Amino acid sequence: MTVQDIQSFVTGDWLAPDSAARDIRDAVTGDVIARAGRAQVDASAMIDHAVSVGAPALRAMTFHDRARMLKALALYLQERKQLLYDLSFSTGATQKDHLIDVDGGIGTMLVIASKGRREMPDGHVYLDGGLEQLSRKGSFVGQHVCTPLQGVAVHINAFNFPVWGMLEKLAPTLLAGVPAIVKPATTTCYVTEACVRLMVDSGILPNGTIQLVTGGLGDLLNHLGAQDVVSFTGSADTAYALRSAPNLLRNSVRFVAEQDSLNASILGPDAVPGTPEFDLFVKEVHREMTTKAGQKCTAIRRIIAPQAQVDAVIAALSERLRDTVIGDPRDPATRMGALVSDGQRRDVLAKCASLGSEAERVFGDPDAFAVHGADASKGAFLPPMLYHCADPDAASHVHDTEAFGPVATIMGYRDLSHAIALVNRGQGSLVASVVTNDPEVAREVVMGAGAFHGRLYFNNRDSMAEATGHGSPLPHMVHGGPGRAGGGEELGGVRGVMHYMQRTAVQGSPDVIAAVTGEWVPGASTSQGPAHPFQRNFDEVQIGETLHTSEREVTSEDIEHFAEFTGDTFYAHMDEDAAKRNPFFPGRVAHGYLLLSFAAGLFVDPDEGPVLANTGLDTLRFQKPVSAGDRIKVQLTVKKKTKRTADYGEVRWHVILRNQDDAPVAEYELLTMNAYT
Ligand code: NDP
Repeated sequence: MTVQDIQSFVTGDWLAPDSAARDIRDAVTGDVIARAGRAQVDASAMIDHAVSVGAPALRAMTFHDRARMLKALALYLQERKQLLYDLSFSTGATQKDHLIDVDGGIGTMLVIASKGRREMPDGHVYLDGGLEQLSRKGSFVGQHVCTPLQGVAVHINAFNFPVWGMLEKLAPTLLAGVPAIVKPATTTCYVTEACVRLMVDSGILPNGTIQLVTGGLGDLLNHLGAQDVVSFTGSADTAYALRSAPNLLRNSVRFVAEQDSLNASILGPDAVPGTPEFDLFVKEVHREMTTKAGQKCTAIRRIIAPQAQVDAVIAALSERLRDTVIGDPRDPATRMGALVSDGQRRDVLAKCASLGSEAERVFGDPDAFAVHGADASKGAFLPPMLYHCADPDAASHVHDTEAFGPVATIMGYRDLSHAIALVNRGQGSLVASVVTNDPEVAREVVMGAGAFHGRLYFNNRDSMAEATGHGSPLPHMVHGGPGRAGGGEELGGVRGVMHYMQRTAVQGSPDVIAAVTGEWVPGASTSQGPAHPFQRNFDEVQIGETLHTSEREVTSEDIEHFAEFTGDTFYAHMDEDAAKRNPFFPGRVAHGYLLLSFAAGLFVDPDEGPVLANTGLDTLRFQKPVSAGDRIKVQLTVKKKTKRTADYGEVRWHVILRNQDDAPVAEYELLTMNAYT
């Protein structure tokens, strides 16, 4: 059998392991299949390469350029994922597990790429929140902006998801414009190395944007500074040791940690046997215990059920666990493969011994279970094991010992507040779930347990067909948790990108803010174009270009005509006495939508031109009522331009309607699609 040398990718070169390399064993056969690691990691050269080669290349790109790059990368991996599946069987994972790791990682990258295109600007500065009015007349305003950190992100990943673990951190990092040094867990680094090799070979990433250290990280963390970030996933002990490194503390290096978590699932008081929720609960718990042989950061470790249902849950869950085929992950009949290594297997058994001091094992015997198609004495196999803790209030290990394998403990609760108290005994988790058909139960859990959990997942008969599962971190939603879970946050859409950027409060005149952000803001200079802005194509029309229309009088005939034509005969438009009794109106007033229609009538140019479609309006506010006899006029200003497709881009217009006294009566942002030529 050949032993594969797992290389590191350092300053643009692939480096083979040396005499300091560690052996890596196949989880199923126990054979040494690979070796990884080098005595020396040239930390300074790696950081310098990232900062001086990778970072400037990334920062030269806009958010949209980087999002397109991520999409291309994900699609490239998608076409070659079979290679990653083939390798991953040696980690003990089944084909179903690969879908979570490989397809899940690629899918996460695609979602982050898509969010980058839809929610971030086609520029270099991300705006966090709106303009802040800091002065009475508006000559001094504020805007929070985010710009990429100028250092490197060091990603230290756990063994359990060698692809997803890398890609879920890499996508937000690269979208932010920051290069990464990836350090996978050694036991499964051969899968990560293959994935990095694909990404490098794709030629899609600029040089210096990704480097890989397989084996030990050496003293790299001692070389990091204030512009760098460490994102860690793994055990609480390692997180503690790394985050308290004096160099990281001295330089306030950002440290995002995702670590041991005693996730729980509550069976709602309403979900008695015979309800769809009871069956759903048993199914979800079974899936969480057995997927990846329980080696999932989000797996359910504590099963919290009404006291009266504990026996029924044990019986139903045991029946499912009994049917779980354990064996060679390459065999399609196998439902649960091996743990990642014999070391991990021994660690789980040691943790089980600790759980066993407070809870009785009611299912699964590590000394007597069937393994199909593999040699049980060589592979890191374990059966699913279910414990029952009869006195969870007095117990402590069941709430603080994470057996990172197919192990969970069931405990009974008296009432919902007791269930909430128990779920919070985990002292901070990545996720807690509740299976209930009672929305009030959900509300009570959010109020009582929200502060202790990074994610709360509710499922019932209405959502079960589409719900994504207790254990699935979604790129759209925050992944991370307080306290024992590490206190970090990842993903959550654009939120995850912010970990790799600095938020800065920029204060100055409107022109300063417009120049910084590339967007016109009220009070900033305007200009007049050589033609009506609707006759100027996307490239020609300039930020700040403004059209001032002539005035139009609003008559009572207009109001009545509009009311009859649309059917909107609301009293404020039709009944003078009733309108006067309304504290908002001086008497009958024009419909807001009439004003919008008149505004369009004032500002559009009717001729065929580069404006292709009106796609909506945002932030509409009616500020002052308009009565018959008032005259309105419009100021239409180009606020922002965003390229959308090869043929057209989006123009965001700032629109203000004013009356004859120059008082604003309505304000909004209008979106149009404009042709480039
Ligand atoms: P570890 O904490 O042992 O390792 C995590 C990562 O840290 C690995 O890449 C590891 O590399 C690296 N590492 C360890 N020591 C150092 C160091 N001194 N300097 C730099 N990097 C270091 O976690 P594992 O992946 O081995 O998993 C072990 C336990 O972690 C599990 O049993 C489980 O309890 C927990 N875990 C929790 C997760 C969660 O999110 N809740 C997810 C995965 C694991 P190397 O492999 O080379 O040692």
